[in-house]
Amino acid sequence: MTNQNQPLIFERSRKNRTAYSLPELDVPEKPLDEMVGPDYLRENSPEFPEVSELELVRHYMALSKRNFGVDNGFYPLGSCTMKYNPKVNEYIARLDGLTHIHPYQDEQTIQGALELLYRLQNNLQEITGMDAVTLQPAAGAHGEWTGLMIIRAFHEANGDFKRTKVIIPDTAHGTNPASASVAGFEAVTVKSNAHGLVDIDDLRRVADETTAALMLTNPNTLGLFETNIQEIADIIHQAGGKVYYDGANMNAIMGVTRPGDMGYDVVHLNLHKTFTGPHGGGGPGSGPVGVKTELEPFLPKPLIIKKQDGSFGFDNNRPQSIGRVKAFYGNFGINVRAYAYIRTMGGKGLKQVSKDAVLNANYLLKRLSDHFDTPFKRICKHEFVLSGSRQKNLGVRTLDIAKRLLDFGYYPPTIYFPLLVDEALMIEPTETESKETLDAFADHLIAITEEAENTPEIVQEAPHHTVIGRLDETRAARHPVLRYRKQ
Ligand SMILES: *Cc1c(COP(=O)(O)O)cnc(C)c1O
Repeated sequence: MTNQNQPLIFERSRKNRTAYSLPELDVPEKPLDEMVGPDYLRENSPEFPEVSELELVRHYMALSKRNFGVDNGFYPLGSCTMKYNPKVNEYIARLDGLTHIHPYQDEQTIQGALELLYRLQNNLQEITGMDAVTLQPAAGAHGEWTGLMIIRAFHEANGDFKRTKVIIPDTAHGTNPASASVAGFEAVTVKSNAHGLVDIDDLRRVADETTAALMLTNPNTLGLFETNIQEIADIIHQAGGKVYYDGANMNAIMGVTRPGDMGYDVVHLNLHKTFTGPHGGGGPGSGPVGVKTELEPFLPKPLIIKKQDGSFGFDNNRPQSIGRVKAFYGNFGINVRAYAYIRTMGGKGLKQVSKDAVLNANYLLKRLSDHFDTPFKRICKHEFVLSGSRQKNLGVRTLDIAKRLLDFGYYPPTIYFPLLVDEALMIEPTETESKETLDAFADHLIAITEEAENTPEIVQEAPHHTVIGRLDETRAARHPVLRYRKQ
């Protein structure tokens, strides 16, 4: 156990204590201003803590233990797919032959890397049912923007400049309207019906000759499958628009169905969610985009191609391309991991991933559905949304429940999203968790609902066992303190 209250490293500082022991200088010592020039010298030396090596090691070890990740606990953050990633894919991405190459090298000297990327493009085409794939985008949102720029280029190539709107359901991930806006479109909302699905009548009302695209994930952000997807795609196509698939969370459908078969024209994937890329901490990610043939000329360049002589290279001769969207060819290391993952899992394995993700989510939903309000009485896909409205009536908010979960060593689910659901808790267990883990989580969550009835203050004042108690989140956002100052 680390002592949570041990003094921070600044308080432990003692003058002239050092964490290193270097041999004595055996060359003449030069004054600092001679070495860096007087203009660059600071007036006062920085206030670094002066500590021993042991104190330094303990400081960083203590900090590292305060981190929470999927490698040390259950992390059911809905719409984020915080799943365990096989470590062998990390090993493969670190192989010398893959890490010691440079994108400026001659094509002939990086044939293996190019073949790997080429095969990955093909694998992702197969998984999504698309005709061509670019690996350049660096994240989901970047993929969305790229896909929308492709759709814009397509309409403009047809002399169709009046398509200024992108239709997005009110349950969509927040990046969808943001990407539409950054791509220069106006985001138009289509309502959801009482079953949490796209309201077809409302869609008919908003789809017209100004519609550039509909962005829709399926299963949607409530974890529900849009059963009318073909009708939805028809409505948009008849209006002359394109249908965009947000494929961030493909572990709901991989190997079972494909966006390309549902009538979609463009899809992005999050390799850092579904395909083993480590997730969190801000990246790097990879958000490849797949398109149907009609949109292929507009893909970013270069694409990785197999030439007639069997070698691999870059296709830069793409006059209608929207251009490059990322330096070089995307986040290579993340793409390597994804390729390793796809090959080790195989087609059957990927299908099993989706089945297990859906099974785990439905198992948890079933275990919790007597204890929370369930806004949609349906089988879910990879995630589901509960409502904490019953607990709210007892004075315990969803935020309190999330904070209380921290006391039991869990990362809380996504909360207050989607906005459609009052006091929402959005839970995504992922395919990599065992039944025992799911049961323990359900038991804790049920115990918290009992506390909400009997001893609500325990939940309202949580967390009790973390390093830091409840934060004033508004103040933290408005007046962030980003620098440690010695008291
Ligand atoms: C995570 C996610 C995104 C955004 O992906 P980033 O890589 O974070 O930009 C978009 N849509 C859905 C449904 C997501 O879950």
